[in-house]
Amino acid sequence: MTTTTKARQTGTEVTLGSADELGLDDCDGETRWYTICEKHGTAIGHSTKALARSFASSPIDFCEFCATPSDWCETHEHPSASCECAW
Ligand SMILES: [Zn+2]
Ligand SMILES: [Zn+2]
Repeated sequence: MTTTTKARQTGTEVTLGSADELGLDDCDGETRWYTICEKHGTAIGHSTKALARSFASSPIDFCEFCATPSDWCETHEHPSASCECAW
């Protein structure tokens, strides 16, 4: 079962679930759990659910856009590096 919680740190939602449930690759056989920043679509794999849970409350530790919001175009909701809008 996937769970989506709001991280107090950033006010953004983070989904936690198994690689199977989320349709993500468990490429090395050890990345069984994932956390995903819902706002930015950034996913990171973890070997244990406990580890994944600790990341779920701290998106700036795995989402570069949560860590540096200026890299994110709020207007069009994409990385600002690929944005044509005048910043
Ligand atoms: Zn993010
Ligand atoms: Zn833009």
